[in-house]
Amino acid sequence: MSEFDAILVGAGHNSLACAAHLALKGWKIGVFERNATIGGAVQTREFTLPGFRHDFGAMNLSLFAGSAFHRKYANELKAHGLEFAPVADCFASAFQDGRWFGVSTDLEKTASRIAAFSKSDADNWRRLVAAFPGEAEHLFRLLGSPMGMRALAGTAWKAWRKKGAAGALDLVQLLLASPRAWLDENFESAHVKATLAAWGMHLDFAPDISGGAVFPYLESMANQSFGMVLGKGGADTMIRALEKMLVAAGGKIFTGAEVAEITVTGGKSTGVRLASGEIHTAAKAVIAGVAPGALSGGLLPNGSGNQPFDTAMKKFRHAPGTMMIHLALDDLPDWRAGAELRQFAYVHLAPSLDAMAKTYQQAIAGLLPAEPVLVVGQPSAVDPSRAPAGKHVLWVQVRVLPAEIAGDAAGEIAPGHWDEVKEAYADRVIAIIESYAPGLQQNILGRSVFSPVDLERENPNLVGGDQICGSHHLSQNFLFRPARGFAKWNTPVERLHLVGAATWPGAGVGAGSGFMLAQQLAGS
Ligand SMILES: Cc1cc2nc3c(=O)[nH]c(=O)nc-3n(C[C@H](O)[C@H](O)[C@H](O)COP(=O)(O)OP(=O)(O)OC[C@H]3O[C@@H](n4cnc5c(N)ncnc54)[C@H](O)[C@@H]3O)c2cc1C
Repeated sequence: MSEFDAILVGAGHNSLACAAHLALKGWKIGVFERNATIGGAVQTREFTLPGFRHDFGAMNLSLFAGSAFHRKYANELKAHGLEFAPVADCFASAFQDGRWFGVSTDLEKTASRIAAFSKSDADNWRRLVAAFPGEAEHLFRLLGSPMGMRALAGTAWKAWRKKGAAGALDLVQLLLASPRAWLDENFESAHVKATLAAWGMHLDFAPDISGGAVFPYLESMANQSFGMVLGKGGADTMIRALEKMLVAAGGKIFTGAEVAEITVTGGKSTGVRLASGEIHTAAKAVIAGVAPGALSGGLLPNGSGNQPFDTAMKKFRHAPGTMMIHLALDDLPDWRAGAELRQFAYVHLAPSLDAMAKTYQQAIAGLLPAEPVLVVGQPSAVDPSRAPAGKHVLWVQVRVLPAEIAGDAAGEIAPGHWDEVKEAYADRVIAIIESYAPGLQQNILGRSVFSPVDLERENPNLVGGDQICGSHHLSQNFLFRPARGFAKWNTPVERLHLVGAATWPGAGVGAGSGFMLAQQLAGS
């Protein structure tokens, strides 16, 4: 048995950031991770062939680079090996009519590409980019504050002071709008709208879902204004730096150490019991970086003592799933729409708003979508160190999929368990990419497929392959993430806290929940 001040359950990046900050404040820290490797959704491994390094989940580290945690600890993280690979050609979409549109950090380039579709869209883009700093200030303050009535009122008050009532209301409208509502208001080109709307599909915001506009808005404006960053050599650069920072501060990380129970005495958490039977105690806090269902599903065998909280954890809604396909390639895809696409970090294959809406609805209905939305990541185009000289890795994220398969919208694949179906579905995905980039199949040297079920096997927080650990729809976001009354990483059990993507401010590699909770616990 070991005694700590704080025990963290799981070694996702939020837990690691939380642990590092607390350790630097003098807390005695133990992090317990069930897997042999740490990082959760942020890992880099050779899934196909030796020398080909694939990001298991997150590939885009812009949220981490722009985070409050990174701002505070940039020097320490760099000293511990953190290195970014900056991206100038951030994201694009290819279309079957042979056209493409992409956002690069060079405003003239982006604007001239838009002007080829619509002159007025190009003017609107420039107007939105110019106004972005004034909007971002308020949005980033909200996303970077512990969630409560005070944060909401403070943001509203500051926005009203700076922008007047009309400007503040416009901001509220943006937060409530669906991607389609915002896109229709600002653009007329179907190509431009589809390119931006694809960002909603990285979360669970199909074009017509309220609250989704802010994601295409923020991603497109931030990519235009600041670019994007990947991890040099792999996304795991941030995890290795966090690990070293934590260990240097005296923290301990245990791998292969699944937490089976959070021990509670007299309404207070006292530590953890591992699946191996070992008991470890925590004098100040147990911080669980798990999916809410894990609390009601076993970590708290007698519940939290608060029935509404337990019910909310049990009923926490997960978003549709993801499949990841990792390819080792002889060469990058030969995009029919234009050779310039080869240098973009992301190429989205998402033909129209209606196609995205249909795909989402099919997945929700349990069907394998006939034409999934594809996020084709080309990390080695940005960072050649991820593959042997002249070769490449392709990171294909397939959005969105059911966790359990009731049928196939294309009527080709017989329903079954994902273990039986995944390779056939991956063939469909490869055929779709091939239709935009002829010759891809001949370039494939190795392939590794993770179905939604495989993602959950790797990381139980990815329930049903839900890559964002819980729907971000309005009814489960802001004050309601993960449940009303518990948005500040608190639980009904004293000294027990919940962090990670399921909690405010949600998914992504911004380390927000971990760092804000650590500051709350340490007093600064
Ligand atoms: C396929 C995919 C692509 C993504 N792409 C991006 C991207 O490009 N950019 C971006 O910003 N975000 C991306 N995301 C989202 C982002 O990676 C996640 O939201 C984020 O990493 C979640 O971090 P976390 O701290 O909540 O914990 P997680 O990363 O979910 O880690 C949780 C850890 O806890 C461990 N654990 C769980 N239960 C226990 C237990 N009982 N005992 C011990 N250990 C336990 C798990 O094994 C895991 O290691 C992606 C996610 C996925 C899956």
